[in-house]
Amino acid sequence: MNGLVPAGGTPLLIGGKLVSGGAGVFATINPATEEVLGHAANASAADMDAAIGAARTAFDTTDWSRDHAFRAHCLRQLREAMRDHLDELREITIAEVGAPRMLTSGPQLEGPIADLGFAADLAENYDWDTDLGLGVTMGITSRRRIRREAVGVVGAITPWNFPHQINLAKLGPALAAGNTVVLKPAPDTPWCAAVLGQLITEHTDIPAGVVNIVTSDDHELGAQLVADPRVDMITFTGSTRTGRAVMAGAAATLKRTFLELGGKSAAIVLDDADIATACSYTAFSVTVHAGQGCALTTRLLVPRAAYDEAVAATAKTLGGIRAGDPEKSGTVCGPLISARQRDRVERYLDIARAEGGRIVAGGGRPAARERGFFIEPTLIADVPNTATVAQEEIFGPVLVIIPHDGDADAIRLANESPYGLSGSVWGSDPDRIDAVVAGVRTGTLSVNGGLWYAADAPFGGYKQSGFGREMGVAGFEEYLETKLVATPA
Ligand code: NAD
Repeated sequence: MNGLVPAGGTPLLIGGKLVSGGAGVFATINPATEEVLGHAANASAADMDAAIGAARTAFDTTDWSRDHAFRAHCLRQLREAMRDHLDELREITIAEVGAPRMLTSGPQLEGPIADLGFAADLAENYDWDTDLGLGVTMGITSRRRIRREAVGVVGAITPWNFPHQINLAKLGPALAAGNTVVLKPAPDTPWCAAVLGQLITEHTDIPAGVVNIVTSDDHELGAQLVADPRVDMITFTGSTRTGRAVMAGAAATLKRTFLELGGKSAAIVLDDADIATACSYTAFSVTVHAGQGCALTTRLLVPRAAYDEAVAATAKTLGGIRAGDPEKSGTVCGPLISARQRDRVERYLDIARAEGGRIVAGGGRPAARERGFFIEPTLIADVPNTATVAQEEIFGPVLVIIPHDGDADAIRLANESPYGLSGSVWGSDPDRIDAVVAGVRTGTLSVNGGLWYAADAPFGGYKQSGFGREMGVAGFEEYLETKLVATPA
């Protein structure tokens, strides 16, 4: 299909070599057509073991972690290789992820490729060694300095919804900081990760073993990576449920974990906002990539007095967006990733009905699409914030609208959630907006449509949305150790 995908399927990258999988191959599927696109190497436990061993050896026996300028050079090579193969990468992303074409010029592809430059610049310019000055302890004066060093071998475990963004937001800073990496992508999107293997081996000077890519249809290989004592750190993005398993699995070796998990973020519309604009914007945003975004605002909190107006404006926008072919340039809402994911969303729609919810727009599969895992943009009204569909992450183009009784009540409802990943505030009084910003327990907030996603902007969660920050300097420092050195002055 594509110059980056060999006829027999994509290989693993272990110890600098592109190799086949010990467990054969597994299929990757186009979610818009349900067709088998092709195959990816299916790693065995022995392959994962070899990948971890290669990463350990590369970290322990090469200069990789100490040669900052070389790492910057390698990351820029990877960025250029991806840019040179942009068209092939774009076609893979649309076909394998079901990502709408328009998103590939942003966070689904071109954005994260460009962000490798931010990681490269950090490798080059970061203050690796800082003087803490003199300190006197028990009468002895010492000069202290702080060295920042790589953590070691990093296991990166990623989901399928924005595979390039998440793979590269881990790989870039982890490598820039001097670590070696074993990347284990989600079984639904193996190609997006596997093609990096060919680009790395053919177009970069990244030494053998520094990056290892292990595709598999078996989640157990993720658990194996978490448990292995040769791995120093796990960086994980995925569901909160799996995040708990990762944290438990890492406990035996007291491994550092960095968890980016689920969300059920609230859009808060204050009574001095332009209600129609706020509702329409929020409705549009939950249809982007069929709602498969952890930071989307999937609970819309509106003033009770304006509830009917808000429901009508939201339903109008959702009703006007069709789930469609991701190949087409105008499509915003493509398919869900799999039949399993569509079943999950449909289960939640059944629960909404059973809990007394009113489906005001959408509510099922689009009649016009016989194939593909599509769900129409859907609005659920008349459920309390405690309803299952207002509390649990659905991960589809589904918005729940809930009335609030003023600013304090809106903050209370926004925080009445196990999650704390993102959110938005809409209003016209800066003081009231600031009070809401201060009150909501969440890692990112958009005010009146502001966009926070950028290479230098740290992103992550409060509460059960995880801990640690991806992107920005904070995202780079997740991958560093701190060593204090004291010398008599
Ligand atoms: P998932 O948790 O099912 O899987 C994520 C990854 O973990 C996959 O690679 C999977 O193979 C692996 N895995 C599964 N079980 C494991 C185990 N026991 N030990 C180690 N690894 C294991 O998530 P998903 O369905 O692929 O992705 C959707 C979820 O990801 C949603 O909950 C979404 O909110 C979340 N997500 C969060 C962010 C964020 O930055 N906070 C970003 C994107 C997606």
